[in-house]
Amino acid sequence: MSYVIESPKTTELAVKGGGIFPVHQIYCVGRNYADHAVEMGGDPDKEPPFFFMKPAYAVLSSGSEMEYPPLSSDVHHEVELVVALARGGRDVSVEDAMSLVYGYGLGIDMTRRDLQAEAKEKSRPWEAGKVFLHAAPCSEIVPIEESGEINDAAISLSINGEIRQDGNVNQLIWKVPEVISRLSTLFSLRSGDLIFTGTPAGVGPISRGDDIRASLAGVGELEITVNG
Ligand code: MN
Repeated sequence: MSYVIESPKTTELAVKGGGIFPVHQIYCVGRNYADHAVEMGGDPDKEPPFFFMKPAYAVLSSGSEMEYPPLSSDVHHEVELVVALARGGRDVSVEDAMSLVYGYGLGIDMTRRDLQAEAKEKSRPWEAGKVFLHAAPCSEIVPIEESGEINDAAISLSINGEIRQDGNVNQLIWKVPEVISRLSTLFSLRSGDLIFTGTPAGVGPISRGDDIRASLAGVGELEITVNG
């Protein structure tokens, strides 16, 4: 039997040292750094982090031009450690969680903050804020055999040469193994899944024509430009 329509193309990310990582689903953690939870008006001692998703088509490779999305005039950058899964699982223990990891990347959870704020106010889902073409720029994937476990690493983002976000992944409220374990109790994790683990403080708007560069120690760089 053959497909009756054109089969959707698999989203791909380059792997450092060669090879292609096929992207399946994109899970994201909200408010996983205390200083960012506070800047968004939350209380990290009372409200634990939570999950949302983006579609694979949101991925934009480093070195590419991002299309500023429609219907927003307040798109924000959120620089994040990305975990790439080699295999899936359900009800994975915290102790076993790292055995699912293929490697790491560096991503930006681009957010239409105005549409997200409207959704929050009306107690509606977040998709309009979080889902659009190029909503998930991501670096090449670095295999964990090369990077080692990333538990303490500087993460930063600059726009047109000016530092906007400057944190360390050691500030994560839910650490990577805990994120994987919790996700696997709620959802069915699969090979090719990416997990955006949350952003440190300093989120803010991007503009057309911006040159955006991010860096994560032990993983590398991500650079995109925004269309004019
Ligand atoms: Mn985020």
